[in-house]
Amino acid sequence: MMKKKRQRKYAAILFGLLFSLAMGGKAGQEPMMIGYQGKFNTSGWSGSGNAHAPCLQGEGYLTGMRFQLMNRPDETEGGIEFQVNAGGLGWIDGKSSESGTMAGQEAQPEKEAASGQEAQPDAAALGEEPPLEAVRIWLTGGLETEYDLYYRVYQNGGWLPWSSNGQEAGVLGQGFWINGIQALIQRKGLEPPEDEEEEEEGLPQVDPSRPMIALTFDDGPRASVTDRILAYLRESGGRATFFMVGNRVAANENSVNQMVAQGCQVGNHTFDHQYITRLSLEEMQQQIGGTNQAVLDACGILPMVIRPPGGKVDEASLTVLETMGMPAVMWSIDTRDWQHRDAQMTVEAVLSQVKDGDIVLMHDIYPSTADAAAVLIPALTERGYQLVTVSELAMYRGGMLPGHKYSRFSPAKAVQK
Ligand code: ZN
Repeated sequence: MMKKKRQRKYAAILFGLLFSLAMGGKAGQEPMMIGYQGKFNTSGWSGSGNAHAPCLQGEGYLTGMRFQLMNRPDETEGGIEFQVNAGGLGWIDGKSSESGTMAGQEAQPEKEAASGQEAQPDAAALGEEPPLEAVRIWLTGGLETEYDLYYRVYQNGGWLPWSSNGQEAGVLGQGFWINGIQALIQRKGLEPPEDEEEEEEGLPQVDPSRPMIALTFDDGPRASVTDRILAYLRESGGRATFFMVGNRVAANENSVNQMVAQGCQVGNHTFDHQYITRLSLEEMQQQIGGTNQAVLDACGILPMVIRPPGGKVDEASLTVLETMGMPAVMWSIDTRDWQHRDAQMTVEAVLSQVKDGDIVLMHDIYPSTADAAAVLIPALTERGYQLVTVSELAMYRGGMLPGHKYSRFSPAKAVQK
């Protein structure tokens, strides 16, 4: 649903642009466009892709960018310049480059100086280039008087608003890494591209002064159960986080889109429910990256959090999660719903001990869990708890960092590594 909406929007932007340039441009001349590639920490330079289409993929973050102007009008001088900013390393100029598959300019920060602390060798190789946090791009040599350059980055789970003509795009210093980039050029005087619609429109805002908990559902989606839970959330104005098994996502795409439409958070639970502590680096990338890609394909949102199956993590797997930009979300209340399959026991497990800041573990593949949710969601709301996503809870309680694990977010902001 959302994906189609977005595709339509991109198509509309592109069509509008081609149309307006074609009508205003010289006969026989292709409209000027900006081409770009991102260098992903997990897989290197992306394919050159279509000009003006989003450069975003399901794993990793960007450590470098390349840009070039395509079909620059013959009579004009000028070109494109840009800078990237990697956390703590400041702004770096893009430089002319003929290397790689795309001629143009590229920028990539140097590898960080050794800090004395040795990471896992293979994980270190994977994450040796620092993640980009912001970019600015502008036209030069007279082009800037005739054209506007728009660009935006995908960061912290969504597209930021469009920036233009040298403005900073990206949030610096917050540990948010750029996962994707989109840019376009159009003649001055045309309507600027639209920002994403506010998906949470109409949903209750979080009141930081009131107690809140995060309900989480693993191992799904399974439409017959997941859709019931979503309906109960809708009735109570609550949200939850769904840690999905990648191989179930495509067959339950409607449920995934419904999660997003209701402001719920989409999370990662590996592709085949694998214990990540038993996986090689490559297997971990496939299991986690594959799920991120499946969710992105289904709903247009890239998961930013993972729940490791079985709750199994160790230092080595946390180090890999850090390179993938993802925190591990554990839990503070274990309903054991998968074991007893008894709705009443699930309800009691929560209501007997729940407190502000808890993360509750359930599984949206058992009908008994949907039965429990039918009671729990209104009961918790009645008790004054705001039902929020994991990232919302974290946002008001000290935040989350990639490569760390979190089991609850108490009002005292307690966190554990
Ligand atoms: Zn599981």
